[in-house]
Amino acid sequence: MDSVEQIAALLREARFPVALTGAGISTASGIPDFRTPGTGLWSKVDPAEVASIDAFMTDAVRFWSFYRHRIGSLTAVEPNPAHYALARLEKAGFVKALITQNIDRLHRKAGSSAMVEVHGSIDFCVCLDCGNRYGHDRMEDALVDPEGIPTCDCGRILKPGVVFFGEMLPDDAYGQAVSWAQAADVMLVAGSSLQVWPVAGLPDLTLRGGGRLIILTASETPFDDRATVVEHGPLEEVLPQVADLLGA
Ligand code: ZN
Repeated sequence: MDSVEQIAALLREARFPVALTGAGISTASGIPDFRTPGTGLWSKVDPAEVASIDAFMTDAVRFWSFYRHRIGSLTAVEPNPAHYALARLEKAGFVKALITQNIDRLHRKAGSSAMVEVHGSIDFCVCLDCGNRYGHDRMEDALVDPEGIPTCDCGRILKPGVVFFGEMLPDDAYGQAVSWAQAADVMLVAGSSLQVWPVAGLPDLTLRGGGRLIILTASETPFDDRATVVEHGPLEEVLPQVADLLGA
């Protein structure tokens, strides 16, 4: 049995299969891994320094001078066949819930709905003074002007709805991810190298509950030796093959 058949068999038998996705699922959409050194703009700056809550609080104008390019590049991208395959698997009942580390909205665009974005999303932005939230359009409209910066009605510069370096994950999102990971009898890890805590601890919750792991990621992960299936092939080819095999 090849790994596509193995993955399909595990998902078919699972009572509560959960997917956990990371940056690797979006690279085929043309989004470089934010944390990978040497990729475009971010090769010149340290994202942990620029996209940190300290940097934003210290100098929000400087923050936006870097981050505007990221918002711009993420606004134009489209889901790839891996995102669509996960949405098909959800509709057919072979994925019950999706936890993503990605902020790019591509699962949402592809049609996944039972999902939690544990690192937040560029789908909205927020005012740290008055708590007002605005949709993505608020950023897009302001950033059309090369000097423009999105601001709240109260005048304060807005923060994208993403979790920055140095910030805690939102309790409600992370709590949901933990309960899904604990309930999962199969966890399908797609495109995450499982290096970023606390999300990297989720597969351990599934394993401790007696669940099994499928790891579908280009690089090795700390969980490879505990997984039932490990496949390093391209997600945008493997996941549609799994969905096809399941008739999803
Ligand atoms: Zn405000």
